[in-house]
Amino acid sequence: MKHFTKNELFELRNHIPISALIADRLNVPSKISEGQFRFLCPLCGEFQTATNPKTNLARCFRCQKNFNTIDMVIMCENTSFVDTVRTLKAYRQTLQHKTQEAPK
Ligand SMILES: [Zn+2]
Repeated sequence: MKHFTKNELFELRNHIPISALIADRLNVPSKISEGQFRFLCPLCGEFQTATNPKTNLARCFRCQKNFNTIDMVIMCENTSFVDTVRTLKAYRQTLQHKTQEAPK
């Protein structure tokens, strides 16, 4: 089992916008309603959800659960922790490329 540093995991949890991960990478159905980003909860299949940009957590009000970026990937793709970290690292790199290439 490969170990990841606390700092690596912190960055993956906090520096990948969770709504972008949900909509763009995981292709989870999502919508904006009442000014809030809502996604289809993979557990209960309802849209009673929101994301908190401050904590970078996704929440389902029906399940009364918070999900971080790592939880979301594990739930949606059924991957192991190690594979999930790899997925998030790769996704973070694509985000960084986008930022660098974006015209000013
Ligand atoms: Zn739910």
